[in-house]
Formats: sequence, structure tokens, C-alpha cells
Amino acid sequence: MNQYAGLTRLDRGNAPVCDLRSDTVTQPDEAMRQAMYAAELGDDVYGDDPSVNRLEATLAERLGKEAALFLPTGTQSNLVALLSHCQRGEEIIVGSDYHVYVYEAAGASVLGGIALCPVPVAADGGVDAGAIAAAVKPDDSHMAISRLVSLENTHNGQAIPLARMTEATDAARQAGLATHLDGARFFNAITALGCAETDLAAPFDTISICLSKGLGTPAGSVLVGPADLIARGRRWRKMLGGGMRQSGVLAAAALHALDHNVTRLADDHARATQLAGALSDCGAGHVTQATNMVFFTPEDPDNTKLRSHLADQGVVIGGGDTGAIRMVLHKDVDDLALERTVSALRGFYA
Ligand SMILES: *Cc1c(COP(=O)(O)O)cnc(C)c1O
Repeated sequence: MNQYAGLTRLDRGNAPVCDLRSDTVTQPDEAMRQAMYAAELGDDVYGDDPSVNRLEATLAERLGKEAALFLPTGTQSNLVALLSHCQRGEEIIVGSDYHVYVYEAAGASVLGGIALCPVPVAADGGVDAGAIAAAVKPDDSHMAISRLVSLENTHNGQAIPLARMTEATDAARQAGLATHLDGARFFNAITALGCAETDLAAPFDTISICLSKGLGTPAGSVLVGPADLIARGRRWRKMLGGGMRQSGVLAAAALHALDHNVTRLADDHARATQLAGALSDCGAGHVTQATNMVFFTPEDPDNTKLRSHLADQGVVIGGGDTGAIRMVLHKDVDDLALERTVSALRGFYA
């Protein structure tokens, strides 16, 4: 059963009041559409789309790196990073429940001949330095060649502290490995940690950032890193079919989002805290919350009744028919939508 099962109400005429499945469901608002309409365009495969060039330069500068590359999705952005860092027969050390390991169809192995070596993820969402050191292979012809450590922040909404990130990247560097950050929700992490963008970027060679999650654009991710690696990445992007033409319409949405949708992420985090509090008050199961995500494991193992009760009131939730339900706050969930969600939950558990 996938997280989108049972969604028959998502036609335009009967849009949900509150869609909590993911922060990817946001619609571009009027101002973002205006920015897209007005975007200056060129052909990005020729390198002459001014909006894409501006987006790449902006994010490279904001993160304190040399260069950046605009890609259609976060999965392709991570894949291009891994393919640019590693050769066939080499290995990536990655958290065992990180997106790169679990949810990207093993693309680096399929397309790059690269091994993925999973290591335990600690309770705070980080990977311990010791786990990295233990996973690094000696120079032995029996073994894969350890090349890269791939980390994630936020992980399941958890913003992992800078000290924990640098502990892990220091272990990687001591072993001569490069480092990649899957920062799909990089700006949620920055917001929660209260640090500078350059602070979270500094320990890593490359960082991938999603634009279509909390930032609210229709599509797109950016990979940031050293100029030579990004140049290799540009070739991989073309080979993977990710070289888009007048993609400045999407880059313009991203530039708009960087100006208008970063500081507001704190509102999503505050609403997630409110929702978690209201759910805890219902006393109907186990609740955890971190940044913009709430995880609710009801005592009653059958989620279907709750799901359909909420759907009848226009509230859509993620998760399967049993187990933890994920609820993700984003810019299209305002105070009114949150209120309706809370009262629908209270109605169910009253
Ligand atoms: C969403 C996400 C990605 C990329 O997903 P796409 O749907 O391909 O854009 C990568 N890593 C994490 C942690 C994510 O949440």
C-alpha cells in the first residue's frame, strides 16, 4: 500500500482543505506565478538561460561554494552527485534509512556500478563517526574502494546539530573520503538550527537542495559544490536526460522562493508543534514532531477509519493502513486549515 492510496477526492472541483501527505504538494502562489511569467529565458543546455544561471550563481554564493547545477528532481541531483564523486567499483557509505539508500531505486549502483554501504543511523538522525570509521575499507583487492560519505539533514524532519555533522565529516576526511549532504530540506535544517547557510554547507564537498518541498516551487533541485565536480555533473545530467531548455521558468520560481519562502519555514515548524500538541491531547497514540513533520502512531492499528473520517472533512494524511502516519506542514496549510484538521482529529477521538 503506498502513501497515495485511497485518494479519490483530489480532483480540482473537490480539492482538500488540508493536504498533509508531504510538503511537495504545494501550489505556486500568485506572486510565484508572476515571477515565472516574467522570467527571462534562454536555452540552458547551451548555458544561456539567464534565470537558471542566476539561480545557480545565487545558491553557490549563499552556500559558499564555487558552482551549482539546476536539476529536475532531488533524486537526479543526488544521483548526479554520486556519479560525479565515484567511479565503478567504488563505494558510498550512507545511513541505512537515508533517502539515497532506500528511496532512489539504487540508481548509483544501477547506472554507476557504485556500491552502497549502509551504516546505522543514530536516534538523532545523524551517523556516528565510529560507524563511518568502521565501514571504511582497507586498501585490499578483495574490497570495494571507499570513496564518499553521504549524509542527510533534515532526516525524518530531525535537524541534526552542526557538531554532529562535522563529527561525521571529520571521520570521512580522516579516511580520505569526500562528503555529500542530501539537503532536500536544507532550509528547514538551517531554520531549526538557527545557523548560517554556509555553516551547514561548509563541512561538505557537495550539497543537494530541493526547491519543490518547503520552498514551494513546482519542480527542481540544485546541486552545489566545487567547479570541477559540477562540470562533471553537467555531463551526467545531460546523459540522464535532465538537460532542460527554457528551464528558467522553474528557476524564476526558485529565485522567488529564496527571497520569500525561506523565513516563513519557521511558521511551518510552529504549526507542526501545534498539531503535535493537539494530537497528544487526544491521548490516542504516540506522537513525535521535528521541524515541519509530525509522526503519529495510533493505538488502534487500523488507520483506515481515521483516514476516511479525515478525508470526509477534506484532510488528507500520509502513511499506510497500519503503523505511523506522517503529517507534513507546508506553506499551503494556514492557521484555518490547521484548525479544521485539529477539530476533525478531536471529533474522531472524542
Ligand atoms: C524528497 C527527497 C529527495 C528527492 O526527492 P525527489 O522527489 O526526487 O525530488 C531526496 N532526499 C530526501 C531526504 C527527500 O526528502
